Amino acid sequence: MKTIADFNFENKKALIRVDFNVPLNDSFEVTDTTRIEAAKNTIIKVLEDGGSCVLVSHLGRPKGVEEKFSLQHIVSSVTNVLGVQVKFVDDCIGETAEEAVANLTNGEVLLLENLRFYSEETAGDVAFAEKLSKLGDIYINDAFGTAHRAHASTAVVAQFFTDNKCFGSLLSKEIQSIDKVLNNSEKPVTAVLGGAKVSSKITIIENIIDKVDNIIVGGGMTFTFIKAMGGSIGNSLVEDDKLELALHIIQLAKGKGVQIYLPVDAVIADAFSNDATTKVVNTNEIPAGWMGLDVGPKTIELFDGVINNSKTILWNGPLGVFEMENFSKGTIELGNSIAKATENGAFSLVGGGDSVAAVKQFGFGNKVSYVSTGGGAMLESLEGKTLPGIEAILK
Ligand code: AMP
Repeated sequence: MKTIADFNFENKKALIRVDFNVPLNDSFEVTDTTRIEAAKNTIIKVLEDGGSCVLVSHLGRPKGVEEKFSLQHIVSSVTNVLGVQVKFVDDCIGETAEEAVANLTNGEVLLLENLRFYSEETAGDVAFAEKLSKLGDIYINDAFGTAHRAHASTAVVAQFFTDNKCFGSLLSKEIQSIDKVLNNSEKPVTAVLGGAKVSSKITIIENIIDKVDNIIVGGGMTFTFIKAMGGSIGNSLVEDDKLELALHIIQLAKGKGVQIYLPVDAVIADAFSNDATTKVVNTNEIPAGWMGLDVGPKTIELFDGVINNSKTILWNGPLGVFEMENFSKGTIELGNSIAKATENGAFSLVGGGDSVAAVKQFGFGNKVSYVSTGGGAMLESLEGKTLPGIEAILK
């Protein structure tokens, strides 16, 4: 796996695919610079070697050229984060871009306009990718958030760089973290899978079942398992067409010696509302008219014990409806357990959609080993899929 550490960028122009798809407020100011900061290591390495950077990214989902999606809006934020005055041109291919690149000197950073102003970007157009390839001597992909897309700038462009292409610092860290959990893990390995539905996690379960010792199930998924095993789940979230599948997973795990831990008690509510009346009951004894929206205290203790004994932990998906305060305790306590295990030497990776939001909301970000920056890309990695953006660099 070639990374930026394998190159000396002196006198080289690096074409870097970054993920600067950052949130903007109504005044077009960047409200969260996490993604810009995530690309900083790669950019600084190129500059310190004595090279220059040509940054390409998408922002939002524009239909053609739309001023509100212009990357011009983020120039000052990128400048602040990098501590280097960033230049900008209003095109990402063609004469304007090529001229700006030709005029770039060592130590400078140039940001090009939104790639998605051209529909050729998401179409993975080869001719468009070839035009992009003219804008750098070396291609670096550092955009994990779009690594699962076979777009022109994330995958197709790589074919125009034979040996001179590599992973950026962020992307290589993402790849190493997933590898550390799934392939080079210290045992026992525990995967916590929460969130809403079994159907969206089934491919992950099937892929990881040979690689983990324990699977903790939480969130809305719980009730499909409980119902399948004959429990009463009241009005809890359920996928009736996945009952057989749930039983199949339980059998599969048994056969492989993998322990599945399901919540033993639940915080139930008489409505899907933070103001609903609540009580705690056994997960398989939920009365009609009530729904399970969080795990109960016995479950928190049970899961804490499992996490405590784990050396590698993967966390994807909340244990309850954490967006409502009254149903956030299970997710918060799980975060605390993982933080404690991490402090005691376990490796913990949090990734995929809502678990990252939960980790950020409750301040666990710096208490786990790694928080993935890519929702969809992370999920697809866990499902065992080869990501086009990664494969293109390895070819
Ligand atoms: P996912 O994107 O699959 O990780 O699902 C995350 C969503 O699952 C969050 O918005 C949670 O509110 C929701 N969720 C978690 N637990 C439950 C539950 N017991 N009932 C309904 N939704 C839940």
